Amino acid sequence: TASETAVIDAVNKQLFIGGSWTDASGAATFDVHDPATGKVLCSVADASPADGRAALDAAVKAQPVMAALSPRERADILTRAFELLHERIDDLALLMTLEMGKPLAEAKGEITYAAEFFRHFASEAVRIDGGYQTAPAGGARFLVTKQPVGPCILITPWNFPMAMGTRKLGPAIAAGCSSVIKPAPQTPLSMLALAGILAEAGLPEGAVNVITCTDAAGVTEPMITSGLARKLSFTGSTKVGKILLAQCAEKVMRTSMELGGNAPFIVFDDADLDEAVAGAVAAKMRNMGEACTAANRIYIQSSIIDEFGKRLAEKLGAMTVGRGTEDGVNVGPLIDQPSLDKVQRLVADAVDRGATVITGGEPVDGDGYFFTPTVLSGVSTDAAMNAEEIFGPVAPLTPFDAEDEVIALANGTPWGLVGYVYTNDLRRALRVSEALEFGMVGLNQGVVSNPYAPFGGIKESGLGREGGSIGIDEFLEVKYIGITA
Ligand code: ADP
Repeated sequence: TASETAVIDAVNKQLFIGGSWTDASGAATFDVHDPATGKVLCSVADASPADGRAALDAAVKAQPVMAALSPRERADILTRAFELLHERIDDLALLMTLEMGKPLAEAKGEITYAAEFFRHFASEAVRIDGGYQTAPAGGARFLVTKQPVGPCILITPWNFPMAMGTRKLGPAIAAGCSSVIKPAPQTPLSMLALAGILAEAGLPEGAVNVITCTDAAGVTEPMITSGLARKLSFTGSTKVGKILLAQCAEKVMRTSMELGGNAPFIVFDDADLDEAVAGAVAAKMRNMGEACTAANRIYIQSSIIDEFGKRLAEKLGAMTVGRGTEDGVNVGPLIDQPSLDKVQRLVADAVDRGATVITGGEPVDGDGYFFTPTVLSGVSTDAAMNAEEIFGPVAPLTPFDAEDEVIALANGTPWGLVGYVYTNDLRRALRVSEALEFGMVGLNQGVVSNPYAPFGGIKESGLGREGGSIGIDEFLEVKYIGITA
């Protein structure tokens, strides 16, 4: 449509380096696709390792400029960018739906969520504090202050093209750090649009540089190992996170790692069943199930599993699958063919191991990468989907009898991002929340993401926290100055 073409045309598709838009070396480009049709939307610059290095050099040059801005100046830039995101929310949401597939209402929700990181960190920027203390033995004084960690490399995934960027850029800017950000090749457009907004909001040249590329490893490895950046913040798969941690070891870089999850969703028979079903719909179907927080293993106490399965299947079966730009659609396409193939493989494996399909179970014929919302019952604990992120609209139900049994099942994974628990028994709620080996717990709640709360995982789900009042600490170094009094 005309408005679709207009929002695509409005985005600058070059690299954003040192405050200027420039072509990639050799004017190289790659195509961006609409996952609802499989068709090419446009092409964007394909950065080379030399372009990556130029972006990093620009960040290094801008670092003292960023550090010299007053906290109030940094806060004002973030506040202005927050306002611009809201002013342009309709166009930005459409752009995101076109490149990523999520329904327009969810895309708008993401722009609001993304902007909130800027509002939150604008107020954190002016609250960076320190300490002054007398040494216990007397005499010396300890002055403790916090300084920006330095130039940062930020790498983001395709599932939340805007929010995963602002969640890193917000605290980086608030702390006084310059950065190079590399969005995922499937969804570069939202980040390119954000670069324009940050420049309009008054960010100094080179303070944020955006490079889009297809050869992520080839471009970012020399940047990381150059020693010019002091910090890497990554959101993506555990597999790539481990590779990047090894690269960061070379120059002992600070890291924040938001990696994969394998969330258990546990419903006890004393829970409010309507609330539990609604929570499961949210935890499973938000973003078509393409979230590291998505409910991946749904454990239901045996006495209520049939009723729960019936109600969940009614809800998922009633959802409208289609192109996210169309009215009334609440489930968009998956991101690409490999994702669709993976979901199909995992469903076939679960069925082979005895699961029953209550609703869905099939891809949708035609263009795009659509999969029908699916509920599987009787999924055996050795099904492949219990050990892998599904990243699709498939809810696997597994029965349990005892509390100890389900805690052991839930914790029996190398991941530890988030777990969900539904119960109306206060003591059980606290007991189980404390026993779950996860960085976050949704207690009678199907969504935990909130810019004002510390988001992050333990075990192989990552290192560090984003958001909350501690999110800015990931971009600050503590310096202690010993004083002879
Ligand atoms: P996903 O499975 O969600 O695509 P990835 O971990 O593969 O997750 O990708 C997340 C981000 O990491 C993307 O921006 C991608 O381009 C980037 N990426 C993938 N492999 C590497 C790598 N070896 N080095 C640096 N970045 C990478």
